[in-house]
Amino acid sequence: LAKQSGKNRYHYYDLARDQLIREYHHQLSRLTSALEQGELLLHYQPKVDLRDGQVTGLEALLRWQHPELGLLTPENFLQVLEGSNAELVLGQWVVSQVLQQMEHWRQQGMVLDVSINISASQLQQQDFADKLLQQLARFPLLSPAQLGLELLETAALEKVAQSIQTLLTCRAHGIRFALDDFGTGYSSLSYFRNLPVDMLKIDQSFVSNMLNSPEDRNIVDSIIRLARAFNREVIAEGVETLAHGAMLLQLDCHYCQGYGIARPMPASAVSTWMQQWQQARVWENMPSPQPE
Ligand code: C2E
Ligand code: MG
Ligand code: MG
Ligand code: MG
Repeated sequence: LAKQSGKNRYHYYDLARDQLIREYHHQLSRLTSALEQGELLLHYQPKVDLRDGQVTGLEALLRWQHPELGLLTPENFLQVLEGSNAELVLGQWVVSQVLQQMEHWRQQGMVLDVSINISASQLQQQDFADKLLQQLARFPLLSPAQLGLELLETAALEKVAQSIQTLLTCRAHGIRFALDDFGTGYSSLSYFRNLPVDMLKIDQSFVSNMLNSPEDRNIVDSIIRLARAFNREVIAEGVETLAHGAMLLQLDCHYCQGYGIARPMPASAVSTWMQQWQQARVWENMPSPQPE
């Protein structure tokens, strides 16, 4: 199309492309300086056991406290980083932040499991496992078993053989793995069977719709059965109400996470939230599972 419209069109596209590249570099350097300026931080969202409401751990979620735009979530900025060196730098930073926070909690008597989201390019670094284990070694009083890593199906399935080696090395030290957003990627059952992961994390799109959509409920049900058939644990994300929790319990899911339990919160709010959660015994008010 551009060819037919003559040379001026090329000129237009070049300008547009240059503009995009400039914007990209601008955003990338803005984000790098955000990290240096201490504008990036982590929020933590609890995960609970569906059977008794016990808090089983937290997921660390990246935030950018932007001086003009306020608190930004990853969808606003993470994509710019994809495949860049800054993504790896940020990934390292997240790990070290989380470990420091876990050590801080430990000193306050709270031994908490925390999971971290890992990007495809992080996982595919040859020395990913070595670096992670080195970072862990700086905190001898933390157990590697307190650390969970969440991978997108797609991330784990690129360069499968290498990913499996990385997973096995980390798991030999007790670190656990979950496949995030499960059901939205393209993993075949045979890949899945060979992937050394401990947990499936059902994508929130299926979970949040399952009360109205029988199809989504069937998908959730199938993933839970799949996990159990392969001796994997299973967690549902996107649990927005207690009714979601009740249905998941009925479907025999192990754990859940979502706004219905708690929104992601600053690290400083976690201990108060945990006390209130236990005191309120919210779980006792959960409707008991209805027979089908
Ligand atoms: P994710 O790992 O699947 O995380 C779940 C997302 O769902 C989070 O969004 C969380 O705030 C949100 N969420 C939790 N409960 C509910 C709910 O009940 N309803 C709805 N509608 N949403 C809920 P967030 O924090 O914006 O993160 C988005 C994605 O960004 C994450 O998806 C993860 O893939 C990525 N991400 C977050 N932090 C990091 C990080 O440190 N490193 C990397 N590589 N990726 C990260
Ligand atoms: Mg996640
Ligand atoms: Mg997810
Ligand atoms: Mg997601």
